[in-house]
Amino acid sequence: MSDLLAAYPPESVVTHAYAFAKEAHRDAVRASGDPYVTHVIAVANTVRSWGLDEPSVAAALLHDVVEDTTFTLKDIEQRFGKEVAFLVDGLTKLKRISYSPEQRDVESLRKLVISFTKDLRVLLVKLADRLHNMRTLASLPPDRQRKISLETMEVYAPLAYRLGMQKLSGELEDLSFPHTNPEGYDWLMKNMESSYEERIVYADRVRAMVATTLKKNGIQAITVDTRAKHHTSLYKKLIRRGMDLSQIYDLVAVRIIVGTIEECYAALGIVHKLWSPIHGQFDDYI
Ligand code: MN
Repeated sequence: MSDLLAAYPPESVVTHAYAFAKEAHRDAVRASGDPYVTHVIAVANTVRSWGLDEPSVAAALLHDVVEDTTFTLKDIEQRFGKEVAFLVDGLTKLKRISYSPEQRDVESLRKLVISFTKDLRVLLVKLADRLHNMRTLASLPPDRQRKISLETMEVYAPLAYRLGMQKLSGELEDLSFPHTNPEGYDWLMKNMESSYEERIVYADRVRAMVATTLKKNGIQAITVDTRAKHHTSLYKKLIRRGMDLSQIYDLVAVRIIVGTIEECYAALGIVHKLWSPIHGQFDDYI
């Protein structure tokens, strides 16, 4: 918690917002029993980790003040200025957009969210807010879990994806999945041989192995990175493949970036020595 404060000078708007949020939410607790302020601090930390500016981190700290306390937007503007107040106002408005599972026109809901946003920072703080709410969903009653998960699956995960935040989108979907499709989730947990975390560990081993082998063969890779498939995208693919796990070949993926086309073919040759291609499953997109 104090990590956040340590990152900003005492006169920063973030430091002031932190103290104010603590005071404003003083008597409130979350469903988990934690002081309410722990939520806004977590959101602010996420926003900071994404590299957003000070007004955004301050807005993250203040995002629930207008809706949940007796302080008004005017109070925010007087203390923190127009820019922070503008961001907080956007976040307060987003909070009032209501989603109901019966409302199937999710595309217009996504458009509504975007139109309320005006400034991309508002949407980013909102996504950080949603991420923390999803990570702490366990304390809520089942009907709330389901409603929030449906909204996350249908509105916020796709928006994150469109912003190019695939990892965030995947995590939001995976946190929603057990609540939006409990039967599907149980099926996957029973039939999967590895967990997402195990796939991450495996992917890390693969990355190290690929990097070393490339080096040994004199290929200078610019980056070698890996990803593990999230549960939700795996499940979607399984539906297309008749629920046959043996048809899924991309539980982990490696991406190698090199400087030239020649090196690219050479790297491919090396990878094929490590893992032989499966006949009919190999595509060369070079
Ligand atoms: Mn919030």
